[in-house]
Amino acid sequence: MEERTEIEKLGEFGLINHLTANFETQNASTVLSIGDDAAVIDHFGKQTVITTDLLVEGVHFDLMYTPLKHLGYKAVVVNVSDVYAMNAQPTQITMSLAFSNRFSLEALEEFYLGVQIACEKYGVDLVGGDTSTSQKGLVISVTAIGEVAPEKFVKRSTAESGDLICVSGDLGAAFLGLTLMEREKKIFLENPQVQPTLENEDYIVGRLLKPEARKDIIEYLETQQIMPTAMMDVSDGLSSDVLHICKQSNLGCRIYEDKIPLNEATKAAAFKFGLDPTVCALNGGEDYELLFTMKQADYDKITLQEDISVIGYMCDLEEGTKIITKGNNVFDINAQGWNAFA
Ligand code: ADP
Ligand code: MG
Repeated sequence: MEERTEIEKLGEFGLINHLTANFETQNASTVLSIGDDAAVIDHFGKQTVITTDLLVEGVHFDLMYTPLKHLGYKAVVVNVSDVYAMNAQPTQITMSLAFSNRFSLEALEEFYLGVQIACEKYGVDLVGGDTSTSQKGLVISVTAIGEVAPEKFVKRSTAESGDLICVSGDLGAAFLGLTLMEREKKIFLENPQVQPTLENEDYIVGRLLKPEARKDIIEYLETQQIMPTAMMDVSDGLSSDVLHICKQSNLGCRIYEDKIPLNEATKAAAFKFGLDPTVCALNGGEDYELLFTMKQADYDKITLQEDISVIGYMCDLEEGTKIITKGNNVFDINAQGWNAFA
């Protein structure tokens, strides 16, 4: 039998001390961490970015197929991804939890192990949080804080006509991972004897359960002295996110279907489910890749970087937001991808 320690045994302070005992401060900016009424942060003349995300069991994650360690990791990653999307460096997070008595100390330890691995990987300090019980389920709220040299942050609203639209990595895999897990869950609920068939699906499942934030791309842009003109992370699907940049920059765009980066495993999985992988990239979500625009003059600096794809360009508002398909058809992009009947 797995060990099960009731949280009641430790009390709230005992619990927080226990869960955070192994976290070590990594940043000079963390002046005061867990244990007081508030943390103290000194960014030494840099500007501060701050972002927060709420994750609700049954809405944002399903514990039937999400290991708690992965969930803790992902809760940190989705927040630091937002900090990178501002062209900033994440430095601190706070972690607030509400959990029902279904969760044992061992379960929370698993969760915090994932949190700790992500904190170490992305160089952020856990400097506080809050802990509560809930009547039902797990609720996670993470706030991430980052620093950026004055005026170096990148907004969504500052793209210009003629700028290239770029995306890092590849898209659509997390959505297919989710489709696969939901299908396996349904099969399991109908017939618990059937073992899941997840062979060859490591990539899409990994992209769903253990996403990474593109720290490496921010570093690459910095070393190449490329200042994106607009940037955001791809969390809701390419089409909806590209439309955010267009709308906020007051511009239109052209996206080329054949330039949208897709992993081979994504294409194979889409084929198996009878889905169009491009539609998965456009409408899916949770890829946590970076979507950014940059000056055409910077193009030469990214040609050797295989992890950045140019997928189109920004144009004037009057020209609309359109996708050019492989068959050379032109469709309006909408938040659900594109509507062939528009
Ligand atoms: P308060 O009574 O001021 O809300 P708490 O007793 O909730 O303080 O928290 C004590 C310390 O532990 C604070 O530094 C707080 O930020 C930190 N903390 C509380 N819950 C968590 C958590 N789940 N993870 C990390 N730190 C936490
Ligand atoms: Mg509290």
